Amino acid sequence: MKLQLLPSTFDENGMASPRQHLSCFVVDDCVAIDAGSLATAASATQKKQIRDIVLTQAHLDHIAGLPLFIDDLFSGLNAPICVHALPEIVETLERDIFNWEIYPRFSELENANGAVMTYQPFSVGEEFSVKHLRLKAVRVNHKVSTVGFVVSDNRMKFAVSSDTAETDEFWQILNAEANLSALLVECALPNELGELARAAHHLTPRILKKELEKFKRKECSIYVVNIKPTYCDEVVRQIGELEIENLQILEVGQIYEW
Ligand SMILES: [Zn+2]
Repeated sequence: MKLQLLPSTFDENGMASPRQHLSCFVVDDCVAIDAGSLATAASATQKKQIRDIVLTQAHLDHIAGLPLFIDDLFSGLNAPICVHALPEIVETLERDIFNWEIYPRFSELENANGAVMTYQPFSVGEEFSVKHLRLKAVRVNHKVSTVGFVVSDNRMKFAVSSDTAETDEFWQILNAEANLSALLVECALPNELGELARAAHHLTPRILKKELEKFKRKECSIYVVNIKPTYCDEVVRQIGELEIENLQILEVGQIYEW
């Protein structure tokens, strides 16, 4: 399985910046989990192949690229882009984004080949298929309705937390998963901003350490994601100080093959 966290910004030489402003993971160049930087950072191959986008939540850093991605592909699509999301996320998107004021309601529009966008709602706890992948949505503890996922093909399995504060359910479900190879877990803010992390429902390195005590899959590689760009250096340093084996930072733009 191939996984890439798409870059959010590029430096003056066009190289991907290591800062993560937006959230968009691409699996096997054909399924996107969240769509933060999808429109601006997907490769030509990814643009050609991605027709399924699975959303963890409706916060802007997770959906910013969705309207523009569909817009860019609009006339050439010969099948609709399918957005997989919780029913309440679909409702939010239709009400607040695809409402003709912020952007066109693509779910009502057609090109010469037919519909350009459809929704495929899923429920928490239920397994569903997207292309060659199986996904299971797991409720996490964020300020808005949010899920993480356990994602598998027939060879490998990884989990992604999306944005979350302390949670028991996520860890319980992960502990029950056999053969989990990798975990992508958020750590948005530095220890000094523990208060803000609590209010915004995010983790700091100190809270992450406590959370990882609940995680029993010691053979699993753990990658930190969703570090707020302003605090990146600080959070990376504090993560290093935790001295937890198997814990590393997921590099923006890098292709991981498991
Ligand atoms: Zn969020």
